[in-house]
Amino acid sequence: MSELHFDVVGAEGPRRYFEGLTPQQLAHAYLFTGPAGIGKRTFARRLAQSLLCLAPKSGVLGYDGTCASCKLFSAESARHPDFLEHGGTLKIGDPDSRSGFYESEELSSRDIVHQLALQSYSGGMRVLLLGDVSFSTHEAANALLKFLEEPPKGVVTFLTTAAPGRLLPTIRSRTINLQFPLLSQAQVGEILGRKHYGKEDAERAASLSGGSVTRALATLEGEEESLRGQVARWFFDSLDGRPPQDSWATRDTLDDGLETIKTLVRDWIVASGHDGVALVSSDYAQRLRKLKPIDKRAAVGLLGKLDDAQRLARTNVNPALVGEMVRMALTSIP
Ligand SMILES: [Zn+2]
Repeated sequence: MSELHFDVVGAEGPRRYFEGLTPQQLAHAYLFTGPAGIGKRTFARRLAQSLLCLAPKSGVLGYDGTCASCKLFSAESARHPDFLEHGGTLKIGDPDSRSGFYESEELSSRDIVHQLALQSYSGGMRVLLLGDVSFSTHEAANALLKFLEEPPKGVVTFLTTAAPGRLLPTIRSRTINLQFPLLSQAQVGEILGRKHYGKEDAERAASLSGGSVTRALATLEGEEESLRGQVARWFFDSLDGRPPQDSWATRDTLDDGLETIKTLVRDWIVASGHDGVALVSSDYAQRLRKLKPIDKRAAVGLLGKLDDAQRLARTNVNPALVGEMVRMALTSIP
């Protein structure tokens, strides 16, 4: 018998629950509840992999990680034909849709019903995972409710939500509700470590996380400089005549970056002559007021050049070139 894993951090209660089950005792639908970012969906994915794993086992939890089925789970997004996953709001969907999950952009309630009415690919179980589930309309919720009332044979559904109160009571009553606990600080740190964050960063973010990986990740990402911050630094460096340290302009950042510059220029014009008018970029007010005032004619010229740059940005022109053009326009202000 090959060695089985169930690689999940935390979730002690739900883990104990499933450890005590045989495959025959598995219900057809579960609702995983608890705060955001504590691993409900990850748990459901590992459970799905366990249920579809081909390695023999007496219980429910555990996968070998090496069989043909597990290989389909190893990618970042699982592509197992008997595993359907969707995150977020479900729409009702097109009544004539014949497309399965992998052909359409978005899984709808009708797609689910249609797809799971078909035979399983491997002849075994099928698993549906709806993460952070919510419904765009009552109709969409009712389609899933009907599905849960008469589920096709061999289908197990996992719903996850941080807000069970927003689901139809009838959906809640058709499912077994398992509550997931917050993670401990050490557990959040462990998960961040696996995501290749350094030990120090992981520990600091974990200490601010309140037991949620999502919050810890937001802390870590918030510390990376925003595009707006980068562009503003470039803007002030250019005006001060310092060669900018880095270029912010790429195909993805050009539009937003130019918009930031335009706002800064408008604020500069306001700061140059209109006392009492509020600046949009109030966080840069001090630096804007320290700039040499721009006169009216130069201001009109500069705004015109920014319009040109925005038009150019919509063509195939090299983004760095547009950035350089704007820098020249800024540095040539008398
Ligand atoms: Zn396997």
